[in-house]
Order: sequence, then C-alpha cells, then structure tokens
Amino acid sequence: MPSQLSLPLWPQGQQLELPLISKLEQEVLAKHRIAMQADLQARVEAVAAEIAQRKAGCRCSECGKPMQNQGNKKSHVQTLLGLIGLRRAAFRCADCKLIRYPLDEALGLEAGFYSPALGRLLALIATLCTFVQGSEIAERLLGIKISPKGLWKVTQRLGEAAWKAMNDTAQRLADVRTAPDQAAPQDAPDVVVLGTDGCMLGMQRRSTRRHRADPTTPLPPLPPLPKQEGEGFRENKTGVLLLPAERTEPSAGRRSVVRRYLVSCLGSADEIFNLLWAKLLLLGWLGPQTVVVIVGDGAKWIWNRAELFPNRCEILDFWHAAEHAWDTARILFGTESRKTIEWATAVVDLLRAGKVEQVLALLERMKPRRASRSQQLLCEQAIAALLEYYTDNRTRMLYDQYLAKGYGIGSGAVESAHKQVTHARMRQAGMRWSQAGARRMLALRVLLLNDEWNALNSLVATAA
Ligand SMILES: [Zn+2]
Repeated sequence: MPSQLSLPLWPQGQQLELPLISKLEQEVLAKHRIAMQADLQARVEAVAAEIAQRKAGCRCSECGKPMQNQGNKKSHVQTLLGLIGLRRAAFRCADCKLIRYPLDEALGLEAGFYSPALGRLLALIATLCTFVQGSEIAERLLGIKISPKGLWKVTQRLGEAAWKAMNDTAQRLADVRTAPDQAAPQDAPDVVVLGTDGCMLGMQRRSTRRHRADPTTPLPPLPPLPKQEGEGFRENKTGVLLLPAERTEPSAGRRSVVRRYLVSCLGSADEIFNLLWAKLLLLGWLGPQTVVVIVGDGAKWIWNRAELFPNRCEILDFWHAAEHAWDTARILFGTESRKTIEWATAVVDLLRAGKVEQVLALLERMKPRRASRSQQLLCEQAIAALLEYYTDNRTRMLYDQYLAKGYGIGSGAVESAHKQVTHARMRQAGMRWSQAGARRMLALRVLLLNDEWNALNSLVATAA
C-alpha cells in the first residue's frame, strides 16, 4: 500500500480554485484601494494648492536669508493607500546650497520614499523578523512591494532616530546625577530591581558589502566565523528594571512580572548604566528613599558601577552561585556520582539559607587527597576558585534576607530579557551585524518590547 505521506501535498501543475469569498474579498479590496488612493492624492493636492496660493517666500533655515524659487519639482511617496504623486515648489539658498520643499515640510514627509506611517509599519515588521521574511510579509499584508534591501534601509533610518533619541536623553540625564534630589519624585517606589548582563553578538568582519555578479546568481557566502570567542563578536549589554511589588505567581513556583522595562546597547558598561539611570528617572522610579536592588552574575563591570546608587542592595545571582558549586562538585567527585549530588545540594541549600560564612568555613577545611598529582592539583584549584568567588561576593549572598524582603534572588528577568531583545531577532543561525545595524535594531526592539513603539511617531527619521 503506497504511503499517503509520500504524495505531494499540492499535486503538481494543478490550479487550486479559490473559494468564492476570497475572490470577493480581493475584488472589493482592489476597487476601494483605487478610490482611497485617489482620495488621498486629491487631499495632498489641496494642501499643495493652498501653499502655492500663499505665495509666501521661503527663508533659509541655516542663514535666514530669502531663498530662490526653483520652480516645481515632481516626486512620489509610497503611502499605506498607494503611490502618491507630488508636485512641489523647491527653494534654494544661494549661499548655503540648502534646498527646502514647503509642501514636504507641511505634510511632515521624511527622507526616503515611504510615508511616515508606512515607514513605521515596515520597520515594525523588520523589527520582528528577518528582512527577507519581512519583504514577503509586507507584500502579503500591506500589498506593498519592497525588497529586503529597501526594508533594511527604512529600518536603518528609524532605528538610527530611535537610538539617537535614547542616547541623547541618557546623556542629558547623566548630568542630573549631581543633583538627584531635585529630580526625585516624591511617590517613587520603595524598591526597584535592576538587572544587567552581557551576551555575545556575531559581527560582520568584511569591510565592504557583498555583491552579486548578476541578478540571478546568489550572493557569495560569508566568510566563516572565527573559532575563538572575542574575535568577530561584540558584547551586547541588556538591562531590565522592575518593581518587586509587581511580581506575581500565576502558579506555584512560576513567577512573572506585570511590567518590566528594558534597555540595551552595543556598548560599554558606562553606556548601559547611563541608559538604566535615564530610564529610572523617566519612569519616576528613583526617589531619595528608593532602594535599588542590583542583581548580577559576578562580572566586575556591574559592581564597579553599582556605586551610582547610594541606596542599594547588591545581590549575586543565586543560580550563578549554585552553578559554580555544581561545577566544583563535578571536578571533585565526578560528573554523575552520588557524592557530587549530595555535596552540591548541601552547599546550595546552605547558600539559600543565607549561610555563606558556613560554606566558606567548609571550603577552607576541605583537604582533598587524590592518588595522582595532576588530579590533586585540579581539585585544590577548583576549591580555591570557588572559595575566592564566594569570598568576593559574600556580602551579596545573604539570600535568606533578600527572600524575606521580597527582593528575589535570581537574574531570571535579565536572562529572559536577553532572549527577547537579542536572541529572538539578532542571534538566529548565521546572523552577523554591523555595529550601526546592531545598535539600531536593538533600539527598535527595546521600543517594541517596552510597549513604547508609538514614541517613534514623535521622532523624525532624517538620517539615512
Ligand atoms: Zn542659507
């Protein structure tokens, strides 16, 4: 009996008849699309006529001198309702060589071919999926033909505007640090949790873009990624802010938060802390009494900057502390042995109970005896490393107290932030980013995930 699965799902060459309702939908869409496009065209022309009637001169925005009328220039703009033709007067400053189009300015058009509303929708698509998938989705959903490259361009422009706005705000608010009390809101929360961490992003190493020999041949393959980490990678830092009072437990052991705000950058530790600081101020979450609970994995760059917040509680992520104990147990007693499980469980239980001093004393007493010299050395080094890690962080491991205060003990929120901001869009198989491209995409993803996408409406995307 032939297997049904071996048959092609759609028989070759057979045209499938569309259901009647689909045909009707298409007919109505096509008919009204034409009417909507014509309506928009008429309204744009009315604005153009009104501007022309004013016969007002145009002054240079640089030097203020009157500009020369260069006559009408034609152009097009792709809108949600179709392609719209523009006939607009151009003015030129003889000194600055600057050109202004009063109609474009009145309409609020931006650089590029797309209307602001359409451009933002296109960028939204590309913020969610790859440029290739996005170009397909734009055609099916919006009826707009746009190449992956075209989609990339729109996204770059809006991403740059978003990144610039965020960065400018962070820079401006960094100055408020000298006088935090003046900016402090009175109804700020008692406790804020701040988590931050880095993850690696594959970067482009080529200096020029790849080119096709002709339109039908595929692009040449990318050079392979280097084997060692560091080379060809850059650290993307992400931070998350939440109020522990808003943590809920939908089912036993499954915690979730109602709100959390994300920041992300492809930059230095100072940059991510500037962004975190700015976000705290903008949210009104940093008052004179607010305790900032900082959760980190032990990376020095985090603790070095924690001092920004005089009212703070530093917590070493419990899962990193526990993982370190497990790694050490495996070196001491083997990967799968009963002793490994017993020892690691005992250490982790002590840690959770806040008995870090007891764990330190236990580690100091340990004198492993191994038959081989190399094994002996390995065990001694493992114990010394764990002892150092816990000693460095002993004041950040009072887990019983943190739990009692409701601060939480883990950096789960940061780990999930990484997945949402970066992994889901930017760490798919084989993806490589330019610095500018990564920075812009991170800015857009943060806006989307913070439910702040509408902030893009107030930004003008001019830079290409
Ligand atoms: Zn001028």
